[in-house]
Amino acid sequence: MSKLFELHRAIDARVDNIRDNRPDWLCGKGCDNCCRRLAEVPQLTAAEWDLLRRGLGTLPADRLHEISRDMAALSSQSARPLVCPLLEESSGACPVYLQRPIACRTYGFYAQRELGLYCHEIETQVSNGVLADVVWGNHDAIDQQLKVLGESKPLTEWFLSWEHNEQIQKAKQQ
Ligand code: SF4
Ligand code: SF4
Repeated sequence: MSKLFELHRAIDARVDNIRDNRPDWLCGKGCDNCCRRLAEVPQLTAAEWDLLRRGLGTLPADRLHEISRDMAALSSQSARPLVCPLLEESSGACPVYLQRPIACRTYGFYAQRELGLYCHEIETQVSNGVLADVVWGNHDAIDQQLKVLGESKPLTEWFLSWEHNEQIQKAKQQ
């Protein structure tokens, strides 16, 4: 099993454990605040991008066209927060859910030593004492394991260079 899929398996186990003990957990389809309030463009390693690219390859051409437009706009946007250019804005769904990056898999279930939890909705429940018994995942350990997978680059950079290469390939075939 690849290192990335090992990481997925470990994250799934932690997430399932939390969900099993909390059937009313906030994260679910339609709750997309985290995808709409990104502090930065998501960073991915090459292994994560390779997987995500496979998901993108299954999307219809008009959807890819919209994503391409949003990626280009995002790469020059300075205002924060950011909306993920992959998000289906009308449904709040992720079109590449099965291939999503590690950061999206851990969000809401993992905490970082310096930064704590990321999600404001869940943080509110924590401060109300509702989630006092949750055993959070350790995001610092995930970051260490991601480093083994190599350099991370912004999603926009991966996408725009992939799109550029695809266009070159198509031009060669004409
Ligand atoms: S992390 Fe927060 S905003 Fe994101 S799905 Fe979970 S509850 Fe919703
Ligand atoms: S890749 Fe999917 S889950 Fe991750 S921020 Fe974008 S829309 Fe949300």
